[in-house]
Amino acid sequence: MNTPSLLIVDDHPDSLFVIRKTIKETGATAVYCSETETAKNTLRSRGPFSAVVVRMLSQSVDGLDLLKSIRASASPAELPVLLIISDSDLEFAVTAIDSGANDLLMSPFSSQEFCVRTGIRGQSARRRIDTTHPVVPDSADVSRVHCEMPKVDPETFRFSYGVPNDVVSSWNRDELVTATQLDTVLVCPECSGIPTFRHGCEACGSAMTEPEAIIHHYACAHIGAESTFRKGSSLSCPKCLQNDLVAGSDFECVCGAHRCQDCNHVANDPVLIGHCLSCQCRFAASEAISLPIIGYHIPASKRQLRRNRRKTSVRAGADSADS
Ligand SMILES: [Zn+2]
Ligand SMILES: [Zn+2]
Ligand SMILES: [Zn+2]
Repeated sequence: MNTPSLLIVDDHPDSLFVIRKTIKETGATAVYCSETETAKNTLRSRGPFSAVVVRMLSQSVDGLDLLKSIRASASPAELPVLLIISDSDLEFAVTAIDSGANDLLMSPFSSQEFCVRTGIRGQSARRRIDTTHPVVPDSADVSRVHCEMPKVDPETFRFSYGVPNDVVSSWNRDELVTATQLDTVLVCPECSGIPTFRHGCEACGSAMTEPEAIIHHYACAHIGAESTFRKGSSLSCPKCLQNDLVAGSDFECVCGAHRCQDCNHVANDPVLIGHCLSCQCRFAASEAISLPIIGYHIPASKRQLRRNRRKTSVRAGADSADS
């Protein structure tokens, strides 16, 4: 599959910072322009692009003009155009959609939002790592060193070495055993269990959120979630109490918020929520605890010793069974 290639037409330093960082992290590629005319030439000479992201209005960028020129030759399905708008150009939002913009991106926006809207959520950011972890203690004879790694216990959903805790403590005290950090994982803040993650409601943790339109009432300038305007089958402004609002003449809708179907909380974006597979607790991903995954390199001589000891104890068990 081809790497997504975007044409970015913006001259705003803050949003360019977020965009450049995101493009780099996801492994997507982009061509940057800061003027409408340069962007038109770039479209002709350096395409095809998978999408165009353009600022609605700034000193040197006229997004509507560029959008109209793109739509003269390419449909929204052929070349998606995403317009970056700020509060001050909300009034152009409806015109932009009518003129063929695929979506609007409210500025300022997060890296995550940019990924979702442009569809560049990185294929190359997903990497498979070698499960054996090529960890080699200094100067050791690799073939003779065994690495004890913790595994997830399917009963408790926690990492375990499969040996009693005092054995792990004895490895920690043993100077012939080397401890190496192999990884860090996020675990449940309550019980250190393994969580799964979902995007959900920041108030209650539910994953059942749906996009909610934001209404901008022209007369009193109030902006709020559509659900706060609902009154039976009509819309009424919760601030100035004007009833039977008519789309277009009384208000405009802006996309971008999400409402929780379980608790009705409205927020800009769903946040990452962890759900512990062990104790079933739900928590914000930012509250998860970083657990270092430690591998213990145990020299062959030590393992031989352990095996001999085990044999001795098995034999001792057999002897006592005979008697
Ligand atoms: Zn109002
Ligand atoms: Zn909720
Ligand atoms: Zn837990």
